[in-house]
Amino acid sequence: MSQIHATVAGVPRIGPNRELKKALESYWKEKATGRELSTTALRLVNDYSDQLSAAGIDSVPTLGRSYYDAVLDTSALFNVLPERVQNIADHANDGLPCYIDRLFATARGTADIPASAMTKWFDTNYHYLVPELNQDTDFRVDDASLLSDLQSQTVRGDKIRPVFVGPLTYLALAKTTDGSDALELLEKLFDAYGRVLTHLAKLDIDWVQFDEPYLVTDIADNDKDRAELLARTRAGYRKLVNTLTAVGGEQPIKLLLQTYYGDGDTAINALSGIGISAFGVDLVTGRQAELGQHQDAELLLSWTGEEQLLAGVVDGRNIWRTDLAAALATLRSLAQRGPVGVSTSCSLLHVPYTLEGETTLDDDPELKSWLAFGSEKIAEVAVLSRLLRNEATEADYAAFEAAVQAVTSRRESQRTHNSLVRDRTAGITDADRRRSPFAQRAAAQAEHIELPPLPTTTIGSFPQTDEIRRARAQHRVGELTEAQYTEAMKNEIKLVVEKQEEIGLDVLVHGEPERNDMVQYFSEQLEGYHSTQYGWVQSYGSRCVRPPILYGDVHRPQPLTTDWFAYAQSLTNKPVKGMLTGPVTMLAWAFVRDDQPLGTTADQVALALRDEIDDLVAAGAQIIQVDEPAIRELLPLQKIQQPAYLEWAVGSFRLATSGAADETQVHTHMCYSQFNELIGTVSELDADVTSIEAARAGMGVLAALRDHGFELGVGPGVWDIHSPRIPSQSEVDGLVQSALDSVPPTQLWLNPDCGLKTRGWVETEASLKVLVQAAHTAREKVAENAAAPALVH
Ligand code: GLN
Ligand code: ZN
Repeated sequence: MSQIHATVAGVPRIGPNRELKKALESYWKEKATGRELSTTALRLVNDYSDQLSAAGIDSVPTLGRSYYDAVLDTSALFNVLPERVQNIADHANDGLPCYIDRLFATARGTADIPASAMTKWFDTNYHYLVPELNQDTDFRVDDASLLSDLQSQTVRGDKIRPVFVGPLTYLALAKTTDGSDALELLEKLFDAYGRVLTHLAKLDIDWVQFDEPYLVTDIADNDKDRAELLARTRAGYRKLVNTLTAVGGEQPIKLLLQTYYGDGDTAINALSGIGISAFGVDLVTGRQAELGQHQDAELLLSWTGEEQLLAGVVDGRNIWRTDLAAALATLRSLAQRGPVGVSTSCSLLHVPYTLEGETTLDDDPELKSWLAFGSEKIAEVAVLSRLLRNEATEADYAAFEAAVQAVTSRRESQRTHNSLVRDRTAGITDADRRRSPFAQRAAAQAEHIELPPLPTTTIGSFPQTDEIRRARAQHRVGELTEAQYTEAMKNEIKLVVEKQEEIGLDVLVHGEPERNDMVQYFSEQLEGYHSTQYGWVQSYGSRCVRPPILYGDVHRPQPLTTDWFAYAQSLTNKPVKGMLTGPVTMLAWAFVRDDQPLGTTADQVALALRDEIDDLVAAGAQIIQVDEPAIRELLPLQKIQQPAYLEWAVGSFRLATSGAADETQVHTHMCYSQFNELIGTVSELDADVTSIEAARAGMGVLAALRDHGFELGVGPGVWDIHSPRIPSQSEVDGLVQSALDSVPPTQLWLNPDCGLKTRGWVETEASLKVLVQAAHTAREKVAENAAAPALVH
């Protein structure tokens, strides 16, 4: 086959019913053998390939069996899993590749081996395992199991296309253990990939794909480094193409270079003209901003038609039905310039498998008609490719018509254009995003809220015990009545409040037992969101999430949290925090609408939260916390796009919180410590108190805050809640002391790094007692220092 007509950029691996998750968990619990796990993994790969072929996809991407993560697979392929897992015994007799337990040890750790770091894959909610390399790393190819998987797929007759993480991207995402620059290894890694390609030549394969999403980022801090890195990447790919030609005989395997999550121009500019056969590009990301004003003639100017283009016009990352008319127009316009095939904008890893089975949507045909999950997207690709080639069938024309109608219905629906919501957002003024000066607020709060110096608090959730989860599940299926469920939650809240009083915390929380997830809980109550039944996507390894769909204008039909809050506050004289999830996070962990700017959507959510804050204050709340753990996650990949993002992100947070009177104290929380680049943003949020993760990094972030001249309240985490270890008193005392070295005592709060829902009660109680004791000790010291005359340096 010379060209690809219809394909997708990549495949999910978890299985339509999360089969891989279940198989992994059984294997880890020793309830299933390695052979069972590997059989399941292979069946999933084969079934999906067959599904793609049957749907009219003429080049089927494959990873072979992939048990956890493609970056981790790459580390295994080249034998560069960390040194510390190398002694783990082989599993060779059990039908598994021999490295499998080393793979899992790297991903999850064992009793005595720490796991590798895991972090977000570009700006998505998927996580990959960070490779650990050093300047002496050798890439020793270990591709026997991959080759046998590929072999078994070709035998089935599927036209498969193996997909690899490109060398540039792999190294750019790696870290080194010796301080060297992982990108120094680029040539070595290209050579190793050359050896893999030599082996592939023996198989019945036409195409191979290299993913280089790193090429959509800024790539380097300055133009010189960028140009140099691109030149080395070009030389590397030229060598790979030459290898394919040298070993390929009559019909060498062709190379598809794929980018996604941004503009494909850099890749094409840098890598065109060296024998690469096709470029796959994302034609969705960034174009939503134009909101339908496609300027196809100006699209992808780097592309001259020398190589084939796989045009990613079907959104691989979001769940909207494709506007087939607009997509076809784009394809036709591009086809005038060179050979074009149809593809998705990125791997289907990020969307659920299928709309089939979403039975609650049967009652809402309007919303259902707006959506396309994985298998619906595959069908869209096939239809578009036949339309483009003038090979469309009656059914294709019908699908085209239906898509056009759905797009119109979505554009014109009351639910995407609710006049009450629209009128209200149109009336937002700058004053709605501004509170009084901090000093004025601080004075009002000091009078209104009774707090000691260095107040102690927690981030919101308390241990989610099995009983809590069971009660929620029973409530969902109707085994617990509303009244019984409320009773169970109230009992939990009472327990949590009593424990906090006993421990001696100053600002209490209700513990969030009623929340399955901090976004889902709110999305289930807000108009404009839909919760799917089976819309699972892989977050990492065996972990899946079910993001809600933010499809329409958002509003709050009734208060969301006030009953739980009021109950908790009725149990204590200490202030209880009202707990909300912020607008950016409410977007980041959902599938969001693509028919208006994100900032507009965020403002709608913000207004709902603003009303909720009013209600909480009316119910007696003196302190409100609005969590924004995702604010850094949505940061655009390219620096040039970041200011516009930060403007709407900050704006929506302020819109949510600025209705609060001076005496109401607004807190926010963020889940990470590396936010040097965001320090200005944290000031601009203008929350009275910001709690951040800091324990593991030893308060390093506080010095950066001080240097920035941060004047607001800050609560560095002094207990790393990511492990069950109970910190010693001297350890926490030390952290508090180093916090005081950077932050004046009047600004400082003390709290754990994050919420406690994944912790057990034993370590929670013990650690919080240590934290409270540390606060007492520090308060005495601060009082002594205040009494002593100031030292003059
Ligand atoms: N309030 C939430 C909790 O305590 C915050 C969680 C988060 O930051 N991810 O669980
Ligand atoms: Zn957190």
